[in-house]
Amino acid sequence: MLFMAEFQEKESAGETTLKIYNTLSKSKEEFHPIEEGKVRMYVCGPTVYNLIHIGNARPMIVFDTVRRYLEYKGYEVNFVSNFTDVDDKIIKKAQEEGSTAEEIADRYIKECKKDMEGMNIRPATTHPLATQEIPGMIEMISDLIEKGYAYKAEDGTVYYRTKKFKDYGKLSHKNLEDLQSGHREIQVKGDDGKEDELDFVLWKPKKEGEPFWESPWSEGRPGWHIECSVMSKKYLGEQIDIHGGGEDLVFPHHENEIAQSEASSGKVFSNYWMHNAFLNIDNKKMSKSLGNFFTVRDISEKYDLQVLRFFMLSAHYRSPLNFSEELMQAAKNGLERIRTCAQMLTDLENTKKQKAADENSSPEKMTETEKEGEEQSLSYVKKFEDAMEDDFNTADAVSAVFELVKFINTRTKEESSMEFLLKMKERLFLLTDLLGLDLMRGEDDLEEGLEEKIEQLIGERQEARKQKDFAKADQIREQLLSMGIALKDTREGVKWSRI
Ligand code: AMP
Ligand code: ZN
Repeated sequence: MLFMAEFQEKESAGETTLKIYNTLSKSKEEFHPIEEGKVRMYVCGPTVYNLIHIGNARPMIVFDTVRRYLEYKGYEVNFVSNFTDVDDKIIKKAQEEGSTAEEIADRYIKECKKDMEGMNIRPATTHPLATQEIPGMIEMISDLIEKGYAYKAEDGTVYYRTKKFKDYGKLSHKNLEDLQSGHREIQVKGDDGKEDELDFVLWKPKKEGEPFWESPWSEGRPGWHIECSVMSKKYLGEQIDIHGGGEDLVFPHHENEIAQSEASSGKVFSNYWMHNAFLNIDNKKMSKSLGNFFTVRDISEKYDLQVLRFFMLSAHYRSPLNFSEELMQAAKNGLERIRTCAQMLTDLENTKKQKAADENSSPEKMTETEKEGEEQSLSYVKKFEDAMEDDFNTADAVSAVFELVKFINTRTKEESSMEFLLKMKERLFLLTDLLGLDLMRGEDDLEEGLEEKIEQLIGERQEARKQKDFAKADQIREQLLSMGIALKDTREGVKWSRI
């Protein structure tokens, strides 16, 4: 793409510099990768025991956008994001359902990938699964024991000797004494076999009925933190450029990852630590226990999931974001405005193509005024880039897209030359692509999916009625109502209509 070349020319001239806010230094730093032209990036993925909620979607959308921008800058990005597929919550769910942890994880990984596709999140270069990486975990734990950073308790648990790692607390900016006194207050039960209350689990022995692996210490499974240290090392090497996740992971998860990886390798683990702020609902923390959360799947019943993506990118990733119906509606309208512009350009282009074919004429070149306009339109691209270079400020980048849309809407008309139309389209699609928005994927696709879903729910309701489960049948009717669908039972069967 021509524009890419222009960008890279500037880049090599040192005119643009990407800055990333690093949780480690609590400041924006210039980005310099370890290996020229390459970026190694690890993002903690979800624990798969349920459909992902829209909070989980935030880091996915944010880091997919970061990856796209880095690639646009010409970096080859090795992007690794795991699925935690063994965990207490997964085991509990399997026990409740009378199935296996493997079956639960498998099911929700598939569902998660479906949601990711809907949000236009590209698959990572590698999506490792914790259960497939147990040998690497045993190896790193053994290494930590050998180096004196870990020890085995009598019951077969292996703990990390936190105080031995001198830099502990460097990411979360906590000091060991504060942590210690904080812990003393909560430490009522006491963890058997720990040398110190700050020590954390690397390996835990199985309980009856739990999945387990053989190890030198006990039949059991790894702790959560060691998973990421090991998967990151295996797929990206001992040192990486960027490590990302939600801000709740800073402590203890990422702090512990640093302690494990750096004690084992003796090298700095990750140079840049990026954390997205939380997504709240009605200005309250979204949580499963409060019941105030939506799954991505819930949202997909009402909106194209690209609207969710656009909504998330309308805020800077380090700002808390409040989810509300009005803001989603605003995002929907905003995205529609951009889509309409793209559609208008495509329509004009098609009309021109047809005309050129009918008249057997060649496509027109830009006029002098159009050339000036084309030059002017670059300023919006520049504004977009400046925003992204400043710690991926997608909020400002989105504003630049709206300005470009306004510019295109006022400057293009039936008489515009084909060359100008194509140039404008190229600019618009360049920026929307970088945000991960596919303008050609329209509401029609959603409608198809929606109809399928309605038919499926009607079928389930009929089945419930046959089984005389009227509570369930009513619940499905309510669900359809909340989707804006009314049912009517007729002699010919159930008919539905939009409210
Ligand atoms: P979990 O499955 O809980 O480990 O979460 C997976 C990812 O989603 C982590 O990076 C979390 O930090 C992130 N996350 C969870 N809840 C939210 C939320 N409400 N807002 C933003 N990120 C979240
Ligand atoms: Zn992790």
